[in-house]
Amino acid sequence: MTKSGDVFRRPKGMKDILPRELSYFNRIERVCQRLAKDYRFQKVAFPILEEARLFQKGTGLYTDVVEKQMFLLRTKGGQSLALRPEGTPSVVRLYFQEGLKSWFQPVQLWYFGPFFRYESPQAGRYREFYQLGFEILNGESSALDAYLIQLFYNLLKALRLKNIMLEINSLGLPEERQEYQKDLVCYLKNHSRQLCPTCHTRLTNNPLRILDCREESCRGVARGAPQLIDYLSKECHNHFKEVLEFLDDLEIPYRLNPYLVRGLDYYTRTVFEFVIDKGEADSSPSQTLIGGGRYDRLAELIGGERVPALGGAGGVERIIEAMKEQGIKPSSPRKPDIFLAQLGWQAKREALRFFEELRKKGFKVTANFGKDSLRAQLKRANQLGVKYTLIMGAEEVRRQRVTVKDMRRGTQKTIERKKVLQFLKRKL
Ligand code: AMP
Repeated sequence: MTKSGDVFRRPKGMKDILPRELSYFNRIERVCQRLAKDYRFQKVAFPILEEARLFQKGTGLYTDVVEKQMFLLRTKGGQSLALRPEGTPSVVRLYFQEGLKSWFQPVQLWYFGPFFRYESPQAGRYREFYQLGFEILNGESSALDAYLIQLFYNLLKALRLKNIMLEINSLGLPEERQEYQKDLVCYLKNHSRQLCPTCHTRLTNNPLRILDCREESCRGVARGAPQLIDYLSKECHNHFKEVLEFLDDLEIPYRLNPYLVRGLDYYTRTVFEFVIDKGEADSSPSQTLIGGGRYDRLAELIGGERVPALGGAGGVERIIEAMKEQGIKPSSPRKPDIFLAQLGWQAKREALRFFEELRKKGFKVTANFGKDSLRAQLKRANQLGVKYTLIMGAEEVRRQRVTVKDMRRGTQKTIERKKVLQFLKRKL
């Protein structure tokens, strides 16, 4: 026989979120809402399921996210759908499908919700995880790159995270990368014996990814590799230089990282990541909290039209883990001032009404109508640390009175029911 309550388990890597943990999610979403207002981003929602082809075309067939990590399902009608592994291709699809071309441009959108990748679950890597994302569609100016980065920087700052480091690079355009890729593959083939098995496959499928492999031997090879920045056109160079100048003006510290390539195919020009700088003492690789960049060619792949764009996404669980590591608590939930206790059926009826009256008047009141014993209710009132407990029993109901217990002093007195609100207003 199965133990009671142990019949169903949630699928591996999926999550239940309990209230204490959810308070972190809510805190982060509230900060997003505030910044979205300041920077004029509008919130959108899009389906959890999309056509699998959207990600195969958009994110890229040989990216880890699509090649290995997509949750796929086939409908009865034979359509191949995927649980969304990221948000950007959906936002671009939405831009075309919902006619956002007719809006004031650039269009600035944000989202917050669950995403799915079929990974082997480990710290900071889950099959179901939350992302917050901000995207700017139809904007070419390098000032927008800095604007977006500034928003993300301020998001992490508003959460009171310390030692935030921005890593930045430029990937140029696909045609520039092709030239570079030829030289890179030539170099990597000469060092192929030092590469990990995954990077061996990447050598034919996605050689750029070898540059940001976390294996120590691959990192060694990457350090000697030719650098993409030397292959960029004058326009891409200038764009990058301008972004860096804006960041200097905004006093946002950054580190140039020539090995930063990001895992998704569609990036062009600026790419960036926010990490927590752990300093010299801790050599473990830092988890990326937020990643993003420009994707000027993605819209062409999805909608057949050129719409230069950029965006980024933050891993909510990773941000929470960083907050916990730094001892940052989400703001605590509203503490009640008053506990309303009741004893007996008639009192319970009266108390339900009185509770509503107090709540509507704006008092921070709580009660536990599931308990009948006064002892249990007083114990709860003590645990919650309320200032006053109001007690309504049969006697109080009959005489239209309420017993008010001052929890700090331990004193109590009986007050006329209609004078209780006045009394509380004076005291709280
Ligand atoms: P990406 O869409 O791969 O650029 O990821 C954006 C951010 O989402 C990353 O920087 C991580 O913070 C987070 N992230 C990506 N994959 C996972 C995962 N499997 N579990 C938790 N967080 C993730």
